[in-house]
Amino acid sequence: MVPKYSLIIPILDEESTIFELYRRISPVMDHLDGLVELILVNDGSRDRSLDLIRDLHEKDPRVCYLSFARNFGHQIAVTAGLNFARGQAVVILDADLQDPPELIPELVRQWQQGYEVVYAQRTQRRQEGWFKRCTAYVFYRLLRQLADVDIPTDTGDFCLMDRRVVDVLNAMPERNRYLRGLRSWIGFRQTAVPFERDPRFAGEVKYTFHKSLGLAINGLVSFSKIPLRFSTYLGLFAAVVAVIMAVLVVYWRVFYPKSPLTGYAIIAVAIFFLGAVQLFSIGILGEYIGRIYEEVKNRPLYTLAEVAGFTDSAAVQPSPRSKPTPSGNRDRLC
Ligand code: UDP
Ligand code: MG
Repeated sequence: MVPKYSLIIPILDEESTIFELYRRISPVMDHLDGLVELILVNDGSRDRSLDLIRDLHEKDPRVCYLSFARNFGHQIAVTAGLNFARGQAVVILDADLQDPPELIPELVRQWQQGYEVVYAQRTQRRQEGWFKRCTAYVFYRLLRQLADVDIPTDTGDFCLMDRRVVDVLNAMPERNRYLRGLRSWIGFRQTAVPFERDPRFAGEVKYTFHKSLGLAINGLVSFSKIPLRFSTYLGLFAAVVAVIMAVLVVYWRVFYPKSPLTGYAIIAVAIFFLGAVQLFSIGILGEYIGRIYEEVKNRPLYTLAEVAGFTDSAAVQPSPRSKPTPSGNRDRLC
């Protein structure tokens, strides 16, 4: 039997949240109007998460799981879930209960109204630190200004997508996956459902500052060429400053020959200024070239160590707990 709904949850070291997650999500699954599969993607957890996931799979046949051979990151974990999902409607949510499972029926209602993408939009971020709130606020607005597509502010990956959207996402070969941007890029009818983001149920935040910054840069670089143009503007600006300085130097030489400003100080400032402009521009270029390099290598997106529960799907691995092929791919997906 092919499920009607797939729920995808990426998991990294979430041993303290998994049972509570299951306790809250299983009544939601019971009340949906069709078969449901719960796809837990273990993203290289080093705690007992995988054992707990296996237990859930033994207890409840609706629970399927994928387990990566190492940590590949949240976006790739969700991508793997999308590759394996069989439902007509696919929901993505976090394991830490910041995305309340009780909102899923509302997402489904909107889908049944005819929307292919229903994304949850945060109205409040309860108990998240001021630094995270401020940076998120600035980033989403900056992204909206710069991106080629209209990426709605304050939306994460918590959403429902129709099979047609998931098929397009799965057919996208790019490695640097900023899913909420790709979701907007695909189009179709999209709508928002507002919700208040709860605090994390337990455990530590897995999106460290470093990972969040990486995701933010990925979002900007993947969806905008404006940073490249910005280095051109910066170059033009430096040229104008250089002309003004040249004029000033001639002026001082003629009218104030003893002025110290014509000496080393001004040369040092100019060297530092130009050095900064050049390094900054090379850095921006590097972000783009690095991504081209990643794409050209064409490696698989992830490696799977274990797959279970996708018995009657077209998945390459038999179940339960098969030893899958090294590249984490249903067919051609990585
Ligand atoms: N996660 C993951 N791999 C990672 C980082 C995070 O699978 O490398 C999962 C994590 O277990 C959680 C979700 O992604 O289910 C969101 O992570 P977290 O709550 O730490 O980040 P937030 O979005 O709340 O900042
Ligand atoms: Mg969280």
